[in-house]
Amino acid sequence: ATENKAVITLFGATGDLAKRKLYTALFKLYQKGYLQDHFALLGTSRHEYSDEEFQEVVRQSIKDVEETRTGEAQDFSKHFFYKSHDVTKPEHYTILKKRIEELDKQFGTEGNRLFYMSMAPQFFGTIAMNLKKQGLLSDDGFNRLVIEKPFGRDFDSAKKLNDELSETFNENQIFRIDHYLGKEMVQNIQALRFGNTIIESLWNNRYIDNIQVTLSEKLGVEERAGYYDHSGALRDMVQNHIMQIVAQLAMEQPVSFTDTDVRVEKIKALRSLRVYTPSEAAANFVRGQYDAGDGTEAYRSADGVDPESGTETFVAAKLMFDNYRWSGVPFYVRTGKKLADKFTRIDVVFKKPLIDIFADPRNESDQSLNSNVLTIFVEPKSGFAMQLNAKRAGQGFTTQPVDLKYLQSDTDKKESPEPYERLFHDALEGNHTNFASWAEIAYAWKFVDVIRKLWDIEKPQFPNYTPGSMGPAASDELLARDGRKWVYRL
Ligand code: NAD
Repeated sequence: ATENKAVITLFGATGDLAKRKLYTALFKLYQKGYLQDHFALLGTSRHEYSDEEFQEVVRQSIKDVEETRTGEAQDFSKHFFYKSHDVTKPEHYTILKKRIEELDKQFGTEGNRLFYMSMAPQFFGTIAMNLKKQGLLSDDGFNRLVIEKPFGRDFDSAKKLNDELSETFNENQIFRIDHYLGKEMVQNIQALRFGNTIIESLWNNRYIDNIQVTLSEKLGVEERAGYYDHSGALRDMVQNHIMQIVAQLAMEQPVSFTDTDVRVEKIKALRSLRVYTPSEAAANFVRGQYDAGDGTEAYRSADGVDPESGTETFVAAKLMFDNYRWSGVPFYVRTGKKLADKFTRIDVVFKKPLIDIFADPRNESDQSLNSNVLTIFVEPKSGFAMQLNAKRAGQGFTTQPVDLKYLQSDTDKKESPEPYERLFHDALEGNHTNFASWAEIAYAWKFVDVIRKLWDIEKPQFPNYTPGSMGPAASDELLARDGRKWVYRL
């Protein structure tokens, strides 16, 4: 592995995300040699910690990762330093600046700086502005900004945030995290499509009937209720993760598999996504909120949630791309909390053969052939399956659907990095492939804003689905209207 050299400044170093994901991700990069002697992390947040106390926090956070040699976690933690800091006080940045410069010298990081914002998004703009004003950027190495979600609440606030960041960083220096893009099987969409003639040659409206994307969660809002009640599934899942997945499914083949070329195609795809009029949006979007049941309380009864809350915990939608490849092919997407199971999958439903020679010609309702379905299992299992029609063994002639299936082995799974490990590494390498560009985010917000505005005005009939189901009945009706069904159903 090639060593990455940098001083990482982490805003929100004592937060939940840092402790649950970020330190583990960095430790794994250290174990694999992507980080060696020449890196340091300067943690900041409001808490008062000494360097030693912070190093203990880091060791606690990574304690479940097996060491590859004794003393490894200890050695790793010695690269961590701490300064308490209030992001709104300009004078505090001067202290950080001095410390970063010292660490740069001490660890020989060649002026490379990575700033990681992992705190409440209302501070993102302020931090970026102060990084520039107080001179925290280096002149010799790279300066990069990694920024957590959410990126705005709507197009206007996202644009404002982006303008603020752009005062300090240019687009090539900004890495907007969408951790779904760090998932192995989301990245595999491109291998599957552009590495296989039998797939890519059928990947269009001549052969595909519809595409379904499901991001299903079993948990409710849990401790994030206060945040979630002001956000909802549309902002929390659709605008970012679902849009990114859909863009990868819909995009044209990039000229090369580089971040610049992939971006161009994703942006083009999102540009051709049909932005609905308000009445079209109302017809093509379904929202839901979970009720009590399955031994759990209703969303509205959760701590921190308005008892009359109109926040959606479920969204289903029909998306249309107005371009030559996809004209007429609906992309159905859905996501929700307190559903039957936790999983993410993509189902690509192919058209049936034009003529079914196996059907009984005297019986019009006899349809023996199923649609071919390519399923991409994103998580928790990773792999794909292709459903084909085959002859049922035995006398006579009937067909039945059979599966060709590939599931990643446990060894493969162990070897694939967690999203945050991969994304941290990409950012250190300066590779944008798995991050969202501003243009993509802007198109996604414009698409989502239409329905959000409508939903903010109209009072929903909530709650409308039971925990353990796959959402409200209207989600099934959205497809039934078109004579279709969700491939995954209970
Ligand atoms: P958190 O509330 O647990 O942590 C926030 C951190 O910011 C703390 O270290 C706190 O001390 C610090 N902080 C707050 N106000 C400050 C101030 N004025 N000055 C200096 N420091 C201050 O938040 P989190 O859950 O770790 O989330 C961080 C970011 O990651 C958010 O943007 C969130 O949306 C995103 N995110 C979190 C998760 C998750 O699983 N926790 C998942 C995806 C994205």
